[in-house]
Amino acid sequence: MIADTTDHLLWDVKERDTKNNMPVVYIKPSVGVNISAGHPWVFSGGIAKSAPNLADGELVRIYSDKRFIGIGYHNSASDIRLRVLTWQDREINTDFFVQRFQEILARKAKLTKHTDAFRLVFGESDFLPGLVIDIYKSTAVIQIHSLGMEKLKPMILSALKKVIKLSCIHEKSELSVRTREGLDKEVNKTLFGELDDEIIIQENNFKFAINIAEGQKTGFFLDQRENRKALLEWCNGRKVLNCFSYTGGFSVYAASRAQSVTSVDISKPAISAARRNFELNGYLPNDFEFIAEDVFEYLKNLSYGKFDLIILDPPSFAKNRSQVKNAIKAYITINSKALEKLPDNGLLVSSSCTTHIDEITFVKILHQSAVHAKCRLVVLESRVQPADHPYLLSFPEGRYLKYFVLQKIAIP
Ligand code: SAH
Repeated sequence: MIADTTDHLLWDVKERDTKNNMPVVYIKPSVGVNISAGHPWVFSGGIAKSAPNLADGELVRIYSDKRFIGIGYHNSASDIRLRVLTWQDREINTDFFVQRFQEILARKAKLTKHTDAFRLVFGESDFLPGLVIDIYKSTAVIQIHSLGMEKLKPMILSALKKVIKLSCIHEKSELSVRTREGLDKEVNKTLFGELDDEIIIQENNFKFAINIAEGQKTGFFLDQRENRKALLEWCNGRKVLNCFSYTGGFSVYAASRAQSVTSVDISKPAISAARRNFELNGYLPNDFEFIAEDVFEYLKNLSYGKFDLIILDPPSFAKNRSQVKNAIKAYITINSKALEKLPDNGLLVSSSCTTHIDEITFVKILHQSAVHAKCRLVVLESRVQPADHPYLLSFPEGRYLKYFVLQKIAIP
């Protein structure tokens, strides 16, 4: 806590700031250094003193000692007490969001050349904490992760309409973090215009039908776009097994080069959508295999050598830190099972989107899986998320996607 002797000085600052009616929160100077350097989160332990009667989700001015640090929003119900929206002394209004969206679009302009679906806003990594916006042609799908952003939603919606010509804005907020923020767990509703049942997007040279309301997350896993393209290099003549295939993202790419492609996903609607995506790309779905099954079971029963390229792109196995231990076990199980069933020199494409497992930990998981499967692994390629899902050096938590192409080598 701040020493009592300086308290009156700090609250002098507050009086000046409340002219614009915005309450003040003082953070500990040790934390202030980190926040000034660009980290957007202040945890409860980093707060020195707050204005009285702060409402959850309210905008606040953030100070460290007597120095203005930025403006953010507050939530006493969340471990992350403050999230910084700006390090500048400026008003948070519709124009603020218009400017943010324009800046992001300028940064991402190059990335939208080979696709008409991309992530416009990736939360903290695009300087809009708690907000995700994916664009599928003229439809925007928004996800709100925090109460502070929920309160700013009217501004966000009007700014979005000003910056991009949209036919629809649909909210698809289905995240467990929302309950911790005091928000409804699930929202799946159209906020503007009309939502098409199906939107057909073009990604690189492939087409995918997206069902936003019924699909998982915002409809498609846009973050694997570049990795799907990179996979093409390894598919020639191979017998490919795509585990956790969802609507066939990796499968459709692989089918253009591989000898055979089998897609496995536990979700029946995802498997039907995968067949539809094969059709859309001019393949006969009956020439390929589609299986609605639990991958853990499928790999257990799989015969050795049936496939010589196995893709594992599971959902996040840990939603929070307490689940990391079990997540590591689950990763080792699927990776070692897949390796056991691959012939020597076969390829394992293994991905992880779990934020709480960093790249070094994932490499250790892969190594441990090789030990279990009694083989060695050579890394042929290692990739991350695409630049429309950016990560900032000031916010390393934003780097979440790991993707490795590995070759199984017999113990020499
Ligand atoms: N690779 C996909 C995205 C995968 S998302 C793409 O590029 O689009 C993860 C998928 O795993 C989801 O489709 C989900 O239905 C599926 N899934 C989750 N648990 C599963 C399990 N135990 N067995 C099989 N599929 C599972």
